[in-house]
Amino acid sequence: EQRELGRLRGKPSRTRDGHDITLLANAESADDVAQAHALGAAGLGLYRTEFLFLQRNELPSEEEQFQVYRDTVLGMSGRPVTIRTLDLGADKADRTGLVLGDEDNPALGLRGVRLSLARPEVADAQLRAILRASGYGPVRVLVPMVSCREEIVLLRRQLKRLATRLRAEGHAIAEDVPLGAMIEVPAAAIGLEAFIDDVDFLSIGTNDLVQYLLAADRNHEALGELYSPLHPAVLRLLRHVIATAQAHDTPVAVCGEIAGDPRFVPMLLSLGLTELSLHPATLLEVRRAIRASHLGALTMSSSRLLRARDRKGIEKWLASAAEADA
Ligand code: PEP
Ligand code: MG
Repeated sequence: EQRELGRLRGKPSRTRDGHDITLLANAESADDVAQAHALGAAGLGLYRTEFLFLQRNELPSEEEQFQVYRDTVLGMSGRPVTIRTLDLGADKADRTGLVLGDEDNPALGLRGVRLSLARPEVADAQLRAILRASGYGPVRVLVPMVSCREEIVLLRRQLKRLATRLRAEGHAIAEDVPLGAMIEVPAAAIGLEAFIDDVDFLSIGTNDLVQYLLAADRNHEALGELYSPLHPAVLRLLRHVIATAQAHDTPVAVCGEIAGDPRFVPMLLSLGLTELSLHPATLLEVRRAIRASHLGALTMSSSRLLRARDRKGIEKWLASAAEADA
């Protein structure tokens, strides 16, 4: 089986009926980047930057960040690299003193873009480093935990101001650095229409979206099956986000764990996704599942999927989709 998977390294991620699906990689280390490149990922869809801030007592400097981002961009040799701005919070705490660790509801607190906006000097250093890396290959900026239009507008303004200053300082930075939002807060998903014209691309973070939509802690062991994407409301919301993005010609990917599970491939294709971002560890398995899928048939059965009334109903749909692909 390993050998069979290995043969998929250089193969396209194309469905049986000839539709290409874009497979991007999630990465948070140089190893991940090397693996993503070797397996033929189309780019990085989610480069998590938290690791630079964890396990240390001081904030990383602009220069240190720049070097890491530049090496990542060079490591992907011309394929787009989507760098996510810092997504720390009391639920992903650091030791640098940036995150105040005493919130009652850390998952609902000062995290992600909220922290970046609250600490503009920290965000400036990170955004400057990212912009400087854009001189070495295609870079996109992805903003986590967006819940309203204002956050994107502020980030866009900050990026523009920093780009102007960097150019004045003599740095060669890219003409165009697309700005995207993570869709992982239900309000951003439901209210997407209001700010979709302010973003260049979207990435759906199902890990958090499921947590916030179902009011189920993503790390709570006792909740068991309650924390699951196999809920009719989750599928409806995914469908809404994907359809809204498509209506506006805005690229949309899913970058939560769900995208790395080959069992869910038929479901995500059926909902209309054409871009997935996942850890390289399961990239070949997901590619295999895509190559076994028939997009036309899956699209036809999406209304049946969306009519499922419970987890069992969704699992039944998944089982029949898997049978059709076998
Ligand atoms: C997500 O929430 O789905 C996601 C990809 O981000 P993280 O897991 O880093 O919160
Ligand atoms: Mg998240």
